[in-house]
Amino acid sequence: MKSFNSTSIFRLTCFFIAAMALYGCAGTTGGDAGGVEKMYVLYCGEGTAPDKSRWTPGVKENEGKPITLSNSCYLIKHAKGWMLWETGYSESLLAMMPKGFPTPNLSWVWKNPKTLTQQLADLGLTPTQIKYVGFSHAHPDHIGNGSLFSTATLYIQQAEYDFYLDPKGKPPAAPANWEKLRANPSVKMKGDTDIFGDGSVTIVTSAGHTPGHQSLLVKLPRTGAVLLTGDAVHFRDNWDTPRAPVQNFDKEATVKSVEKLRGIAATSKAQVWINHDAAQTATLKMSPAYYD
Ligand SMILES: [Zn+2]
Repeated sequence: MKSFNSTSIFRLTCFFIAAMALYGCAGTTGGDAGGVEKMYVLYCGEGTAPDKSRWTPGVKENEGKPITLSNSCYLIKHAKGWMLWETGYSESLLAMMPKGFPTPNLSWVWKNPKTLTQQLADLGLTPTQIKYVGFSHAHPDHIGNGSLFSTATLYIQQAEYDFYLDPKGKPPAAPANWEKLRANPSVKMKGDTDIFGDGSVTIVTSAGHTPGHQSLLVKLPRTGAVLLTGDAVHFRDNWDTPRAPVQNFDKEATVKSVEKLRGIAATSKAQVWINHDAAQTATLKMSPAYYD
């Protein structure tokens, strides 16, 4: 039998203290919201695709089955300022093509006439009042309106920046105005990051869909913890049975990331909100209602 010496016990203790500091421990749900006051869910368009099976390789029944994907943005009010997570498909591109903007796998449309800018205005906000901006990854349906927030500090994984935004790189899916984001003040991260230093909003790396994909763990005072998965999974079925869509950058990393997120969701007793899961999104309160 392997015995633990004092050094390994010390290391184990440090690991658990670090994990608890980052993700909170079971039973403290809602008690460690720090400076977070509330979170709004904003409508950021929706997409339709003719074949669900590209997200569920090996699942026969999804072959040739059309799918609708929801797309949400999340606005967080923290004592240190407003943070926007995800920016949706470019509202100026969608305005030009009201019947849908086709991309290689999906056609995006903004069925609600209210753009992201208008939804912020309804809350009395202009883009310059957003102090922090981040997105799960640099695909067009998440980064599309990023350039509207040119004064915000951008939180992005170094790996995602290098792959999509580095001027020397060749972006495989260049979204509108993506290159403008290079001018934002930015924090290029290499791992999980507690944004405000109070444990209330934590970026959690979940690479696989893209090289530097990330998810967000938000702790609200009354709602408790909410994990925003981004495209780590696209709908509930891929959360329950981790599998990598055909277009993912790294399939093995995708599955590992889903397992990591499932662990965090369990530890922090978080609700899991899957951005593109239209059935789940239909159950959420949309702005101007909010979660506190
Ligand atoms: Zn994506």
